[in-house]
Amino acid sequence: MSFAQNKTLAESRTNGVGVHLFEVFIDKEYTYVGPVELCGAPYQEPQRDESGNSRLAYVFPLKVLTGTRAVSREDQQALDSLRVKKAKKLSDESLKERAEKSRKMPSTYQQLTMQYERSVWVSEYAKRLAKGICQLCLKPAPFENAKGVPYLETHHIVWLAKGGEDTITNTVALCPNCHKKMHVVDDKSDVEILLQRIKQLGDVA
Ligand SMILES: [Zn+2]
Ligand SMILES: [Zn+2]
Repeated sequence: MSFAQNKTLAESRTNGVGVHLFEVFIDKEYTYVGPVELCGAPYQEPQRDESGNSRLAYVFPLKVLTGTRAVSREDQQALDSLRVKKAKKLSDESLKERAEKSRKMPSTYQQLTMQYERSVWVSEYAKRLAKGICQLCLKPAPFENAKGVPYLETHHIVWLAKGGEDTITNTVALCPNCHKKMHVVDDKSDVEILLQRIKQLGDVA
């Protein structure tokens, strides 16, 4: 940034200029994060430039403004995954440096997300059929809830987000571990197993 830009940013709390943050994950590609404001006095510190040489840089402490941000869940996830990708590329040393420098109190914002209104009957029926046994790994629920009921979660074999139906033929009860696995991996052979199991359970019931 030029000296004039630094000056404008340094005075942004009083000069009425709106500040918006863009992060750079790939050379010359800017990803919009949101409106920000200066949350502390700018200071100088030694930082390494692209070629690894130490130089004195101005640092402007910024925080993302609180309030409603019209970011879709997909956009937020895309932004998060770009950040994770960037973090994975950093050396242990610079990752630690960044982790130590990050703000202790995360900023908050409201996010608009799409929620599905699931049927309680379908979910309870799936759990009752399962009788406390995870329908993927066939192990008993790993713990009981505060009321002493084996803890399982219901999962839609074909995700609602992908057009799956909220019906008893598309809903299984899983242990939290297998449930997470279905959402992270969604392995085809696991899906096959679940479809088989739900069919068998349905025949027996
Ligand atoms: Zn399981
Ligand atoms: Zn699920």
